Amino acid sequence: MLQKVKPLLKIYRWVRFLDRIQYWKGLAHKKHADAALDLIEENAHKNIHVVIDQSENEYMWVHPQIVEFWKAMHKECKARRIPIKAFEFLRTKERQDELYVKGHTKAKAGQSPHQYGLAVDIISATKAWNLSKKQWEIIGTIGKEIARKRNIKLTWGGDWDGNDGRPDFWDPAHWQLSDWKKYQKAYNHCVSNGIKLPEETRLRFAFLENVYEANRSR
Ligand SMILES: [Zn+2]
Repeated sequence: MLQKVKPLLKIYRWVRFLDRIQYWKGLAHKKHADAALDLIEENAHKNIHVVIDQSENEYMWVHPQIVEFWKAMHKECKARRIPIKAFEFLRTKERQDELYVKGHTKAKAGQSPHQYGLAVDIISATKAWNLSKKQWEIIGTIGKEIARKRNIKLTWGGDWDGNDGRPDFWDPAHWQLSDWKKYQKAYNHCVSNGIKLPEETRLRFAFLENVYEANRSR
């Protein structure tokens, strides 16, 4: 009897071993609890890239609510010893086209909320995009709770799963203002009518909101 079981045990051990390798590599997490523990890096704050916060320059022409969300997210994750960083806020037209050509984005220039300062990509400060699905879900949950508490209407790219008009596109690093298209409309209106936008960030977005409202009621 024992002789028959032995080969099976061998295979079972191999499967367990392969599971472990996947687990060590952070490719698979059986439970959210494992994924959460694996996100925590006690010593990450000693890493220079984690210690240095984003510079205030990066927030120029980025919507104040996106900046508020990022700062709260950073604070919350830091308290939980989860090292994160904002990879990109504002994206130039040229860079958007470059990413589109490379296939990193489905949006051409003008079609991405990044180009108007209405989105942020948040990644792991140590593992970049190399997080398991469950780890992204944890970050997504933290972010949504922050947005809910602050009454910031955000859309998370991790929720795009094909049931919402965005098939084959899952972008868990990406957060955008849900109503970003109103700013896009106002911006395009200003460009095509030669209306100059204020340079100062808050004034700029307030101005765009007014343009949008004025044109909507017309
Ligand atoms: Zn993005």
